[in-house]
Amino acid sequence: MIIQKFMLKCVGCGAMYGPPRLHCAECDSLLRSQYAVTAFDPKDRSNLFAFQDWLPPTASLDIPIGATVYSSEGLAAKLGLSNLVVAFSGYAPEIRAGNPTGSFKDFEAAPSMLYYREHGIGSLVLASAGNTARAFAYAAIQLDFPVIIVVPERAMERLWIPCESTDAVRLVVLDGCDDYAAAIRIAGLIGRVLGIANEGGALNVARRDGMSTAILEYARQMNALPAHYFQAIGSGTGGIAVWEASQRLLAAGIGNKLPKLHLSQNIPFTPIYDAWMFDKPIEPDVDVEGQLRRIDQIDALVLANRTPPYAVTGGVRDALSSTDGHTYAVANDEALAAAQLFEEKEGLPIGPAASVATASLLQALATDQIKADDAVMLHITGNNETLLQRDFTLHKIEPVWRIRPEAVTEAAIHAVANRIAPSL
Ligand SMILES: *Cc1c(COP(=O)(O)O)cnc(C)c1O
Repeated sequence: MIIQKFMLKCVGCGAMYGPPRLHCAECDSLLRSQYAVTAFDPKDRSNLFAFQDWLPPTASLDIPIGATVYSSEGLAAKLGLSNLVVAFSGYAPEIRAGNPTGSFKDFEAAPSMLYYREHGIGSLVLASAGNTARAFAYAAIQLDFPVIIVVPERAMERLWIPCESTDAVRLVVLDGCDDYAAAIRIAGLIGRVLGIANEGGALNVARRDGMSTAILEYARQMNALPAHYFQAIGSGTGGIAVWEASQRLLAAGIGNKLPKLHLSQNIPFTPIYDAWMFDKPIEPDVDVEGQLRRIDQIDALVLANRTPPYAVTGGVRDALSSTDGHTYAVANDEALAAAQLFEEKEGLPIGPAASVATASLLQALATDQIKADDAVMLHITGNNETLLQRDFTLHKIEPVWRIRPEAVTEAAIHAVANRIAPSL
């Protein structure tokens, strides 16, 4: 009998599968990793592979990727919190945060590629609104793992990486488009037409388990779980990941209660907040124009997701219910003020999404969602490019195909197959 490192268990019906797999055959709930090792036994490594037991790939790499977790002094004192811990998942060598594209999407990319490669899948197609594209492009180059990345034109301006691009990255740009949902749809079509595996987004356990390493790092340092976890969300996958990892930690004897999820979005585009607070269904296909206009007005563009895994069993709604969670809506100016406060008190610049999370912490204090002595984890999911720009030459990625989304047909994809998938 082959003993697998882990199995995939359907959160809804309990069916078990060998990896890799994105969907349950019996129902449409999320699949979750169930690891053979149930003890929490971090290895003596400074990157996220310290938590290899609870990551899908067997292989690991010596790359400077992972969360830097530290107890806040400046911001904590200012807010009157006695136990505020920051998880910094961007790039800031001054605190030994080395994530090469400056966000926690770096936690998802390399583990996903190693995982798929170990299971015979040597290339992937994926959609991105920005940070995912950067992280997967960078990892694809490092691992020489071909990826087709589909992005809306609006995301192009943020598509820089701290190394020169190679043939491993095939960038498809949707002209005249700022809709991530269109990129998701077209990535799906390209995969089906060319027979290339879809990376899977929130369905990909390597992404969720990679993201979960921030709370695992918290657990390693504090030997406990926080009472509260603050993060800005677009899909909410990071929230699901923290909920899942907390269950593993509880089962391993770390902590005694699931952390309460405090998830925040950027006004005026707040579908998960609206769904959770007002029971408003998420209807990505209703009033598309109105939704796109609102997306256009948010500063934290990485939070623009019209199709989050919210109502699916094992998704964001279940994560919020199970942790007695709370959601927040944060305006652009509120986020900007929070970013200034963070930089002043902690000495590091942060990105727009992390600013939303920081602002939500201020809201939570103002509305008594947390108490002064509670253990609070604030996830700074990324910083902007300021520090990467200081230390590296940033390179743009050239598209291999530019097309308007409405012009993408099976025939059009076949016609450019040699360009977007030469050796796949
Ligand atoms: C993607 C992203 C988020 C949102 O993450 P989800 O948990 O997938 O919604 C937050 N912050 C940054 C910097 C991101 O890149």
